[in-house]
Amino acid sequence: MTNSLTTDPQATGQQVFHLVASLLDAFDRPLVVADRAGRILFTNLHAQDRLNSPKTTSRLELNLFSDILHTDRKGVVDQLENGEQEVNLQIDSPAGKSRARVRWLPEPDWLVVYVEPVPSQTLANEAEMRQTVQELMQEREITYRNLLAAYLRLQEVNRQKTVFLASAAHELKTPLAVMKGYYDLLLSGSLGKLTERQREMLQESKESCDRLVRLVSMFLNYSALESGKLMLQLRENDLRDCINDLTCRWQDAFQRAKVHLEIKVHPDLPSFKFDYQKVQQCVANLLDNALKHTPAEGCVTMIAEPHFWERRVSEASPSTDRRRDAGMRANSVLVSVTDTGGGIAAEFHQEIFEEFVRVDPSSSGMGLGLAITKRLIQAHRGKVWVDSVVGSGSSFSFLLPINVE
Ligand code: ADP
Repeated sequence: MTNSLTTDPQATGQQVFHLVASLLDAFDRPLVVADRAGRILFTNLHAQDRLNSPKTTSRLELNLFSDILHTDRKGVVDQLENGEQEVNLQIDSPAGKSRARVRWLPEPDWLVVYVEPVPSQTLANEAEMRQTVQELMQEREITYRNLLAAYLRLQEVNRQKTVFLASAAHELKTPLAVMKGYYDLLLSGSLGKLTERQREMLQESKESCDRLVRLVSMFLNYSALESGKLMLQLRENDLRDCINDLTCRWQDAFQRAKVHLEIKVHPDLPSFKFDYQKVQQCVANLLDNALKHTPAEGCVTMIAEPHFWERRVSEASPSTDRRRDAGMRANSVLVSVTDTGGGIAAEFHQEIFEEFVRVDPSSSGMGLGLAITKRLIQAHRGKVWVDSVVGSGSSFSFLLPINVE
């Protein structure tokens, strides 16, 4: 774009002035031009903003040294005349602290001042802080990655250990089944009449064998749960059969320990879909614990009854007046095993359902029974819990929904 200048000398001067002024406005930093005496000739828009000087076209209203640089004219001019390329000064402008770089243009004999903001301490601190935070985050990411790698390695080692133990447990299954078969054969008397003493010893051996069988199957279940291989065999079953079948096998063990076992199975227990073996294992775990922790002359009571589980109704239908909708009809079965043993302190009521937790480490067992029971019951979408007071016995209960899919 060309600017046409008129021939009128005064008009031409004005046009040149405007042309230079608009060229300086295009400059991206504050800029002031003055003559050697300090009279302002031009200020671009950035300078007017920064120095908050009025947008004036008159060059003579302000003095560079007294009004902008607030310094002695002679000192600056002397330095420039003595060959200094640039004189740097700190100035306080209304927009904050600034740095003024004064240069001398010999040909028009002008002083050109570039004004730059000085980064404030806070800005510097902020930048420093940002840098530190960034470094910390990088460090954290490295730590996190290392931890993850270590965790994955440990998980793999743990998996290998479980696989090894599971195959060892699997190998025990056949010999134990053979032993159990011979005990049954001997106890049946078909291989010859037994004396009372022989019967007692055989019975005791058979119970130990049963215990080993339970431990092995508990461990196999645990490893199946761990590797996510456990599948429930959900079939329409009768819980009464499941419980009666089990308690028959337990009567002898209770009698021998002189602990009274009372079974109360409600006659109206409905048939519903559940995994017969797995639920039997849960009940067996609870009976086993009750027997282990109840002294002679104590009592263990097992109850199985229909139950109205309100939370399940609320999960299934969030509509109003759920109680009336459900008609308080049983939607689950409650099974509880209560003993008159030593009880469990409240602080262990959650923990004992975790793997390998035993309140009394000297007692027999692996600390797996309740953990497996919990997982199996949860797989049926049920829940298990304990009520217990030290010195007054414990009551372990679980709920099984009767409409589990
Ligand atoms: P374990 O195989 O060691 O019995 P469990 O998971 O079945 O493992 O039980 C965990 C711990 O809970 C037991 O070691 C025992 O301390 C405590 N416990 C379980 N049942 C009872 C009970 N009926 N009375 C007292 N303590 C119990």
